Amino acid sequence: MQSIEHWVGGCATPGTSGRSAPVFDPALGLQTKAVSLASAAETDDAVRCAVDAAAHWRESPLGQRTDKMFRLRELIVTRRQELAMLVSEEHGKVLADAAGEVARGLECVEFACGVPQMLKGSHSSEVSNGVDVHTVLHPVGVVAGITPFNFPVMVPMWMMANALACGNAFILKPSEKDPSPSLLLAELVQEAGFPDGVFNVVQGDAEAVDALLNHPGVDAVSFVGSTPVARHIYETGTRNGKRVQALGGAKNHMVVMPDADVEAAADAAVSAAFGSAGERCMAISVVVAVGAVGDRLVDAIATRIPEVVIGPGSDPQSMMGPLITAEHRDRVASYVRGAIDEGARVVVDGSSLDRGEGFFTGCSLIDEVKPGMRLYDDEIFGPVLGVVRVPSFDEAVALINANPYGNGVALFTRDGGTARRFEREVTIGMVGINVPIPVPVAFHSFGGWKASLFGDSPIYGPEGIRFYTRPKVVTSRWPDPTDSAIDLGFPSTR
Ligand code: NAD
Repeated sequence: MQSIEHWVGGCATPGTSGRSAPVFDPALGLQTKAVSLASAAETDDAVRCAVDAAAHWRESPLGQRTDKMFRLRELIVTRRQELAMLVSEEHGKVLADAAGEVARGLECVEFACGVPQMLKGSHSSEVSNGVDVHTVLHPVGVVAGITPFNFPVMVPMWMMANALACGNAFILKPSEKDPSPSLLLAELVQEAGFPDGVFNVVQGDAEAVDALLNHPGVDAVSFVGSTPVARHIYETGTRNGKRVQALGGAKNHMVVMPDADVEAAADAAVSAAFGSAGERCMAISVVVAVGAVGDRLVDAIATRIPEVVIGPGSDPQSMMGPLITAEHRDRVASYVRGAIDEGARVVVDGSSLDRGEGFFTGCSLIDEVKPGMRLYDDEIFGPVLGVVRVPSFDEAVALINANPYGNGVALFTRDGGTARRFEREVTIGMVGINVPIPVPVAFHSFGGWKASLFGDSPIYGPEGIRFYTRPKVVTSRWPDPTDSAIDLGFPSTR
C-alpha cells in the first residue's frame, strides 16, 4: 500500500515514528494509502531545518523571491488537473469543485507574486531637523500552517504563498485525512527553485501539532479547522509567545426576505448547502425565511433536491460526492434521524441513501428548526439544510447575532435599504448580498468573527502580509558635525 511521507529540507523524508493513519477513497469506502504520523522528534527535525533555511531566505532579494513565485504559479497552472484529481480522490469532492478549489488557491499565489508592492514600508522625511523615519517589514521567521481536510490545496495556499513571499520558511501540517496534495505542492515549490528547507511538510496528527506549538523555533502559527481545535491552538500558541491566527468552524445563515426572487434564492440555497456535500466552512447550513416567503421557499428547495446527482467525484455527471469518512457520514445522518424528536419537520430525508459502497449520504431539508436544537446549535458539516422561520428582518438579524459563530452570512432581497442595514448590523465577518458563498477574492482577506476566528488577524490578502511580517521603525539623523551639542532633554519634534 502506498505510504505518504514527510517533505523536509527539499526532499521526501520517510517517517520513522512507526505510527500511521489510513487514507481512504471515500467514493469506494476503502483504504487506499497510509500516511505517516510524525513524532515530536521528527517535527523537531523539520523545524530546525526551517530555522536554518529562513536565515538565508530572508536575505534573498525581492526580485529573486518573486521570480520563484511566478514560476510556482506557472507550475500550478500546468499541474492543476493533477492537483484537482488528488483532492477528489482523497477528499471525495467532485472534480469540477476540486478544480475550483485549486483555482482559488492559485489566486493567492498570484497575489503573492506582487509582494514587492505590499512590502514597500513607509518613509517620513524631516520629522525633525535632519531626522527621517522609515518603517520596514521584516519576515517573522518560521511559520507553521495547520490545515483542515476540506480544502487540502486551497487552504495551504492561503498561507504558504504570502508566508514564503514575505521571506519566511514554512512548515505545513496538512490534514491526515487527505494528505497527498501537500506533497505535490512541495514538489512544485522545489521545482520552482525555492531553496531547500524553505517549504516543509510534516504529516501527522495532534502529536505533531502540539510539537509545533511548543517548539521555540516556530514564530507564527496559521490554523484553519474546527472551533475547539482552533481555541486550543490559539491558547497554546500564544501562551508560548507565538503569533497565532486560528480560524474555526461556522454556522452560516442565508436570510431570504419576502421581496426576494424565490426561485433564485432556492437555486442559491441548494448550491451553497449541498456543494462539496456541505463540507465547506462557508456552506449555508441554515436558511432564515422571513415572513410569508417560508412555504414557497421550502417547496422550491425541496423540488430541486432530486436534481442533485450524487456519485463519485471522478464521474463528470456527479454534482455531489461522498463525505470524508464513514464516521462523519453516520454523525451527519444522526442529526437528520434525531430531527423529529427535537421537534423539527423533515421535508427531505437523504440520510438513508444507499449506494452500497462509499461514504455517501443524500441531501436533507429540515423545516421548523429552532435555536436550542442540536440541529441548529452544532456545525453539522454535511448536506443538511435547516430552515428557521422568523416573522421579521429584525428577528433574522437577532438570530444571527446571537449565534456563537460569525464566519459567513448571506441576504437575498431586492431592497437596497434592507441590504445596507443588514450589512451594517450583522456581527459576521463575511457578508454576501444576493451572493450565497461570499469567500473574499485573494486581494481582500478572509476571516470570521466570534468563535470562527481566534486572534485578530484574518488570513491571506493584505492581512496575510501583515501577519507574516514584523514592522521595524528606523529613526535616523545625518547631522552636520558642527551642529553637535549635549542635550539631555527628551527628543522633541518641534
Ligand atoms: P479539525 O479541527 O479536526 O482538524 C484541523 C487540523 O487540526 C488538522 O490538521 C488536524 O490534524 C489537526 N487537529 C485535529 N485535532 C487536533 C487536536 N486535538 N490537537 C491538535 N491538532 C489537531 O478540522 P477538520 O475536520 O479537518 O476540518 C473541518 C473544520 O474546519 C470545520 O469545522 C470547518 O468549519 C473548519 N474550517 C474552517 C475554515 C475557515 O476558514 N474558518 C475553513 C475550512 C474549514
